[in-house]
Amino acid sequence: MSHSISYLALNLLKCTRNIHLGTRTFTNINVTMEPNPQALLLSSSNCFGFNLLEFAKKDISEVLEKNAISEIIFIPYAQNDYEKYTKTIQSAMVPWGFTVKGIQEFPDPNTAINSAKAIFIGGGNTFLLLKRLYENNLVEQIRKRVMYENLIYIGSSAGTNVATKSIHTTNDMPIVYPPTFDAISLIPFNINPHYIEKPDLDKHRGETRDQRIGEFLQMPHANYVLGLKEGSILHVNKNLLIIKGVAGAVLFKKGQDKCEIPVGEDVSYLLHE
Ligand code: ASP
Repeated sequence: MSHSISYLALNLLKCTRNIHLGTRTFTNINVTMEPNPQALLLSSSNCFGFNLLEFAKKDISEVLEKNAISEIIFIPYAQNDYEKYTKTIQSAMVPWGFTVKGIQEFPDPNTAINSAKAIFIGGGNTFLLLKRLYENNLVEQIRKRVMYENLIYIGSSAGTNVATKSIHTTNDMPIVYPPTFDAISLIPFNINPHYIEKPDLDKHRGETRDQRIGEFLQMPHANYVLGLKEGSILHVNKNLLIIKGVAGAVLFKKGQDKCEIPVGEDVSYLLHE
């Protein structure tokens, strides 16, 4: 392939990145690659009334079993004690019949992602997580492998935030600087995890979550925001987006009233708006 052709292919790929999932097609000179993402984006790992991850067991098991996958690589970068965090996730998922390996057990993270069939990125601080993903050159690699090479993505909370367009709608404090707020972009909009309409505290006078999301929506760079209530899961299956789990979601769009979305609803239209 001549330089000019590979340059053209590179630019088409970049262009697709900007509008990806808008057309959901990347055309190279010889091949057409359709994005093929499979992801489960959990609002959180903990949900009231359930053990760790238990509310998502059915959906996680179904996706992994359907793809004949028994091993998950866990990415604990949102917290500081990688070994302890990996053991916690192992204690939840190993009894379900899966092997869970921490990415830190591999000689280098890029080799780990190349060999992985499924990854799980856990919650913690979203800024720390995104910074570490960039430091390890994992953002583009994960995006490419999930979109085009059948890598299954499971994210929880901060791990869900980084799967979206950007981390502008995290609830976390910016304890470190990632190089950018742009994230893996498996979906072309933002998520607010742990979404709660009003804090339970009668005397709380700080902004509500709705007000904070409203502040984001006033920005020129803002796209719409899907608030995932605790126990809610966004299931991405190629062109199909479905709200799953044990709680619904709330959709926020510029200049419009928010809209409640129950469990089971098809929200695939969000890929094309
Ligand atoms: N700190 C949260 C978590 O990972 C993320 C968030 O609330 O935005 O649990």
